[in-house]
This record gives sequence, structure tokens and C-alpha cells, in this order.
Amino acid sequence: MKSMGVLITYPMSTYLQHQLHNRFTLFRLWDLPNKFNDEVGSIQAVVGSTHVGADRQLIDSLPALEIVSSFSIGLDKVDLDYCKQRGIRVTNTPDVLTDDVADLAIGLILATLRRICESDRYVRNGLWKQNDFKLTMKFSGKKVGIVGLGRIGTAIAKRAESFNCSISYHSRSKKPELKYKYFPNIIELASNSEILVVACSLTDETHHIINREVIDALGPKGVLINIGRGQHVDEPELVAALVEGRLGGAGLDVFENEPDVPEELFRLDNVVVVPHIGSSTVETETDMADLVVRNLEAHFSKKPLLTPVV
Ligand code: NAP
Repeated sequence: MKSMGVLITYPMSTYLQHQLHNRFTLFRLWDLPNKFNDEVGSIQAVVGSTHVGADRQLIDSLPALEIVSSFSIGLDKVDLDYCKQRGIRVTNTPDVLTDDVADLAIGLILATLRRICESDRYVRNGLWKQNDFKLTMKFSGKKVGIVGLGRIGTAIAKRAESFNCSISYHSRSKKPELKYKYFPNIIELASNSEILVVACSLTDETHHIINREVIDALGPKGVLINIGRGQHVDEPELVAALVEGRLGGAGLDVFENEPDVPEELFRLDNVVVVPHIGSSTVETETDMADLVVRNLEAHFSKKPLLTPVV
């Protein structure tokens, strides 16, 4: 397999880079002085990330490209239609990251409602010596709405159920096998939820699926949690609603222009922001990297792909 050229697009996971380097001829996009040099002709595979995937320009610059193996479940940075058109295979990393992202969603809910980050700052700043911390909001028993009841959405629902929460959801299709209440209309879901969790995939249809109308339906006591993609949310509308008190709070792992986060959010104690760490644990990063490598090995050995998308 050493003769196979593999291009990694972003300096993610050193474990992944080692595994790729040990098996293939590894090129790093950020190290290539000129993308259109001689080496490019020997690159048969791209390993993309949530930051840099494989757009039409990159695909067109790699004449020998056969497969894009993404180190992510979300494929919004891969031009899937163009890959289909060009006969380029695409794989991603489903399932192995589901638990971590669902765990983080619950962590963000608890951190936002119980003000865990704010109260941590309170203790560190010596303020406990002057006064007890203020009362916060209860999570157990709340009405939780989930946008996108796929693998991650379902895992969040199961976890929230163990907090005695009632679960409703909005997705493209009703899941008759699940007992949760289905809302074909996202505004109705938001009106009937105290916590709204975004867990759908990012497509043209779900871009800004959380707009002013949805935010206003969730209301001043409602909390928005986003562990999907930043582009699901109309961020200026979210910031305005939080600043004006039209939304109760937010727990955000993802942002529209990462790593830029609107500074207005830093001044709000009812907001918890984390740097896109949904699947970033040692265990899951290893599992994701192994899946990327196994997909490439299967492709180059002409065996069935483990997690094919295209
Ligand atoms: P999945 O199993 O494919 O689920 C995607 C869900 O999105 C499905 O329930 C689908 O509804 C729903 N959906 C798609 N289009 C929709 C639309 N137009 N309106 C409403 N719902 C729509 O994927 P997953 O494994 O749960 O992952 C979900 C997303 O999480 C990924 O795409 C990724 O962007 C994000 N993610 C984030 C992190 C992080 O670090 N924060 C990590 C991993 C993944 P149907 O079931 O009706 O088709």
C-alpha cells in the first residue's frame, strides 16, 4: 500500500497522521508549497476533516483521485454531487462518535441550565466568600425538542429520557418505531420545547433552520443547544435574541465562522461556548482514525468499503 498517495487536508489527529504515514505515501495539504506540482498526480485518496474537506477545486486538482475518506460524519465540506459525477468514492465515520457527541449535548444542557461554568468562575474569583451563588434552572423533567432524530439525536433522546424529560422531535420523516412525539413543523416543536437541541445534518435545507421565528418560538425561558453545525443557526439572530433577552440561554459547540465566535456571547453568563469538541476524546479519535484507514485499505484492496456514502 506504500505506493498509494494519500493527501490529508488539515492538521488533525496525530494518531491518524501516523497511521496514514505508516501505510501510505502521505502528503499534507498545508505542507505542499504548490498544490499543482508533480506530486499531485500520484494522490489517489483525500482524507478530509470538518475544517477542510474536498471541494470541486481540490477534486479538480487531483487527476488520480479515487476516494475521499472523511474524518467526520458530517460531509458538508465534501462536494458529494461532484464526487458522484466523477465516480469518486466517499466514506465517513458514523456511529463511533455518536456517544461522545450525545454526551456533550447533555453536558451543554447541564452546564447552561445549572450555570456550571459561571459558578466555577464564581469560586475561582473568591466570590463564594462574599455570598452564596444564585439559584439556577432544573434539567430533570424538562421538555426536550430534538431537531434531527438520527444516530446522535436518538442517543441524546435516550440520555434525556433518563432525566425524566419528555422528548419531541422534528426531522424529514416520522419514526413510527419510536415513541417520541413528532412535529412536522420546527416552529411548533420549538413552541412545545423548553430545550431545543440541533442534531441534524447540514444541507441546503437545514442551513439556518434555526432562524428568528424558531428562536422566538423557543422564547425567553427556552435554551438552544447546538452540537450539529454552526450554519444551522442564523448566528446574528441568535446573538441578538440572547442580548435582548428573547432567548433564555444557549450551549454551543459549533459556530458559523469557526474558530471565530461572536464576542457578544462572551459577556453572557447564560451562554456556554466550547470549541467544536463533540467527538474530541482520545477513544473516539482513535476509532475514527482506524475507520478512515480501514476504508482506505478496503478501497485499495478492492474490497467493500466499511462505511460508504458514495
Ligand atoms: P444521521 O444519523 O444521518 O442523522 C441526521 C438527521 O438529520 C436525521 O434525523 C435526518 O432526518 C435529519 N435531517 C436531515 N435533513 C433534514 C431536514 N431538512 N430537516 C430536518 N431534519 C433533517 O447523522 P448523525 O450521525 O446523527 O450526525 C448528525 C450531524 O451531527 C452530522 O451531520 C454532523 O454535522 C453533526 N456532528 C457534529 C459533531 C460535533 O463535533 N459537534 C460531531 C459529529 C457529528 P431523517 O431521519 O428524517 O432523514
